[in-house]
Formats: sequence, C-alpha cells, structure tokens
Amino acid sequence: MEKAIFLDRDGTLNEDSGYTYRPESFSLLPGVAEGLVRLKGYKLFIVTNQSGIGRGYYSEEDMHEYNRRMLLELERWGIRIEKIYFCPHTPEEGCDCRKPSPKFLMQAQQEYSIDLGLSYVIGDHPGDILLAHNAGCRGIYLLTGHGGMHLEEVRKINPAYVAADFKQAADFILAENGEKVIAREKVQDLADSLKKAGKKIVTLNGAFDVLHKGHEKILSEAKKQGDILIVGLNSDASVRSNKGPERPVNNQENRARMLACFEFVDFVTIFDEKTPLDLLADIRPDVHVNGSEYGPNCIERDVVEQNGGRIYLVDRIAGYSTTNLLQGQGEKTK
Ligand SMILES: [Zn+2]
Repeated sequence: MEKAIFLDRDGTLNEDSGYTYRPESFSLLPGVAEGLVRLKGYKLFIVTNQSGIGRGYYSEEDMHEYNRRMLLELERWGIRIEKIYFCPHTPEEGCDCRKPSPKFLMQAQQEYSIDLGLSYVIGDHPGDILLAHNAGCRGIYLLTGHGGMHLEEVRKINPAYVAADFKQAADFILAENGEKVIAREKVQDLADSLKKAGKKIVTLNGAFDVLHKGHEKILSEAKKQGDILIVGLNSDASVRSNKGPERPVNNQENRARMLACFEFVDFVTIFDEKTPLDLLADIRPDVHVNGSEYGPNCIERDVVEQNGGRIYLVDRIAGYSTTNLLQGQGEKTK
C-alpha cells in the first residue's frame, strides 16, 4: 500500500488569478517546490474543481495545456505528479465528482493501491478539508490562495493543521510521521532532488547522545550555512566503535527522534560506519560542518572538497559535552 498527498491546484500550487487557465500566467507559489521535494515518500496527485470549463470560460484543452506547463515546471525540480483528477462541472450540474466528493480519491485508492488513512489532502478551501474528512484522509488547510477568506468556516470542520504556506504543510506531515528521519539508502536520491531544486545542502555528523547546549549551537550554526541541513547520526554500533562499549546511553531511534525535534534540522539519517565518509560521498554537501576541535584538516575534508564542497568549523561551548553530563558536570558552565 502507498501513501499519497492529494493536492488542490489553484491557490495551493500555483498563483490563483480566478479561473486560471493561461499557461503564460502560470507561476508556482513560494515554498511549493521545496515542500514537494520533501514529500518524496508520497505519491502525488492533483484534485481540482474546474467549473470554468462547465461555465464556458475556457475549454478542457485549455486546462490540459495549463497543466502541462505546470508538470513541466515541477519536473524541472525532480517532482512527479502521478495523475491530475479534475471535475469540469458547475455546482448546479449536481455531478458526483466535484470536491468535496471523495470519488476521485476512491478511484486513486483503486488505481494506485493508496492507503487513504495514511494520506493527506492539502488545499486553500474548506472543500479540501471536507474532502479529506469524506475520504478518511488528514486535511491541511493553507493560508495561501483563498486560505485567509474561509478561516472561520474551516475551524468548524477541524483541519489536521492550518499552515502559513506549502513548505510548512510539508514540514507538518514529516514531523507528524517521524519522517524527518530517512533511511540511509534513500539519502543520495533525496540529496540529488534537493540539488536539482537549487538547494544548498549542509551536513553535520555525530552521536548526539544526551543533548546539550553545545549540540544546539552547532546545529543552528550549521543550518545558517545553507538551505537544508542533513544530520548524519552515528548508529549505536558506530558510536560503540568510536567511544567504547558504555556508549551511547540513548539508542539510535531515540537519538534520531530528539534531533528531528529541532526546527533547524531538516533530515536525519543513521549511518553504520565508523566514519561518515561514505555518507558524505553520497550526499556531496555544499558545506560540511564540524566542531573546531577537529580542525580544518578533519578526516571529512578530502571527500567534501573533492565534490566541490567546503568545511565550516564551529567553536564548541566550553564545558558542554555528553561526557561531562554523564559525570554530573553538565551545567557547571553557563
Ligand atoms: Zn464533476
């Protein structure tokens, strides 16, 4: 079974000028491409009411032409839409496919083996949230497009989340599902997509065992060096091989979960090797961040620079370390 995101079109993905159909007027809303790139684990569909066809404002072919323009733009960012479902009818026709009818979502469930219970609808209209309810999905309401206009109505129908923009909606989905933590074998594909989308990737690695202020500092400094921060987390076996059998005190799942709570951490991936060199060869970061105690000639330098990246060093805060914390000396230095 697959999980899916059902996307409204006008005002959610693209600028909505009212009965939008001219390809030359097409423009993606801010944060949409960046958000969609993050939702790699989901099959993407567009579900749109196009009553402008039924009203005679534009033809079905006009709509297809507009859609082709949009798909082309998304493809450029490495984003694939499986199918566009559209209702061409006016509300007065009383068809069975106009949102919030769940007809198209039921159809997608059949055609693509979608588990609607694990799926989402994202849109800027109360009908999108009702559609989510009718299909048994989670509904995220956007304040882009017409979003601000129907807030009172939407609150009564209880969306899963009200998001300022598309990127925030994507972040909510990832956070809710613990999906900021991504499998090691999927990291390369993710990094490639992010680069296609023009994003500057920053990496940082470590054990992040019992978190302290020093971790927070290096993570937030790292994020400032680019757009997307991917943290490589040493697996339990990897920490043991570096620091001995007494460590880590927290297992890799919990260490990853806590890292993902930081808003400036975009993704976490767990690696098994003693060093992060293979991981960095796969990601090819623009910037790799390290603690200044490792110096500019840290072991990561060669692989990062060979791939066109650079090393950025962050000074540690004196007195803070997991070792100190475990010895009861953690909060001595303020
Ligand atoms: Zn219809």
